[in-house]
Amino acid sequence: MSHYFTKEHEAIRKVVREFVEKEVSPFVDEWEEAGEFPREIFKKLGDLGILGIRCPEKYGGSEADYYSSLVIAEEMARCGAGGMPMGVAVQMEMVIPTILQFGTEEQLEKYLVPAVKGDIITALAITEPNAGSDVAGIQTYAVRDGDHWVLNGSKMFITNGTRADVVIVVAKTERSKGYQGVTLFLVEKGTPGFTISKKLDKLGMRSSDTAELSFSDCHVPHSNVLGRLGEGFYHIMWELQGERIIAAAGAVAFAQQCLEIGIRYAQERVQFEKPIAKFQVIRHRFADLAAQIEAVRQLVYHIGYRVQNKDYPVKEISMCKLLSSRVAFETADFVLQVHGGYGYMMEYPIQRIWRDVRLYRIGAGTDEIMHEIIAKQLNI
Ligand SMILES: Cc1cc2nc3c(=O)[nH]c(=O)nc-3n(C[C@H](O)[C@H](O)[C@H](O)COP(=O)(O)OP(=O)(O)OC[C@H]3O[C@@H](n4cnc5c(N)ncnc54)[C@H](O)[C@@H]3O)c2cc1C
Repeated sequence: MSHYFTKEHEAIRKVVREFVEKEVSPFVDEWEEAGEFPREIFKKLGDLGILGIRCPEKYGGSEADYYSSLVIAEEMARCGAGGMPMGVAVQMEMVIPTILQFGTEEQLEKYLVPAVKGDIITALAITEPNAGSDVAGIQTYAVRDGDHWVLNGSKMFITNGTRADVVIVVAKTERSKGYQGVTLFLVEKGTPGFTISKKLDKLGMRSSDTAELSFSDCHVPHSNVLGRLGEGFYHIMWELQGERIIAAAGAVAFAQQCLEIGIRYAQERVQFEKPIAKFQVIRHRFADLAAQIEAVRQLVYHIGYRVQNKDYPVKEISMCKLLSSRVAFETADFVLQVHGGYGYMMEYPIQRIWRDVRLYRIGAGTDEIMHEIIAKQLNI
């Protein structure tokens, strides 16, 4: 029970929970092995109205509120692997809101509507080989050539990158202006000069695909500039707030799952003639983590309330992203420890969650960058 959620939210929760139980959980091992989840997942989620849950009806959306997104993030995590939820969240919470917020009517029809339906896969490309935390330091450059822009550069660690039909690419359009000379472009797969240089192999989130992308004299029509020229940095900073809240909701959900897995195991595993859950050092650590998880969960909900009421609390969002990522990893690490040697075996689910949740401390802004933002907000 929570005063944030209504019957409508619980109905969405039920739909997503059933979807995860039937269409995701039984196949996760297979997808982890394959290094991607099937394209049809996007289509199925589109058909269920999930991808465009907060979009206006005229673009195929369900016009639900912000809590609906939090419910979806919580339920997706129940599949026990982070890869598919991350790939879907990129489309749902990074690309769709950005196109909706900044797109022209023509772009909304051409890209938003099929993204909401799940007919296309999308990605957002900010990071580069030489610019991660320092977004303003990107080197991908676009020069105007008549009614086109010519893009050159490369992008690193792009989720959905190997199969995205459309990628939002962040590029410099005025080198001398730093973060004031950044623009967003919608780049379609198959555009000459746009190639997937490499599918990347990674520690966790293995059922999502991650790619390095390359742009070599890639001609993009001017009509595919997304948002205002030279204001792409501000657009991305806006987008990152939403991305961080959803990452926090997912991290808390994984922490909760780890806690439940850990308590179950500790109650069953007997050493020195009693369940290990009875050792005070173990039960107290569970209690400590449960308290932290609950506190961060309430912070996620509180931020959801503020966003729903048209507020964008950067300080609290950064705090929430920092704390949720930490508590998710600390819980996963403790629960792996509670499993002893079994925790290190691939047949136990905790090893996968432990690998997957480690990303939360890096993606969407590292712990250190969250510290920087919070410190700035505190005027330090
Ligand atoms: C699986 C995966 C999926 C991803 N998906 C996407 C995606 O879809 N789209 C996308 O654009 N990006 C994506 N990323 C990239 C991710 O956002 C970056 O990895 C992240 O922002 C960090 O950038 P970096 O890796 O270049 O590290 P760096 O910026 O090089 O940082 C290295 C270390 O230095 C620290 N550091 C940097 N600056 C400071 C500072 N000022 N003060 C203190 N410490 C500092 C960092 O915190 C970090 O510990 C993904 C990454 C991974 C691993």
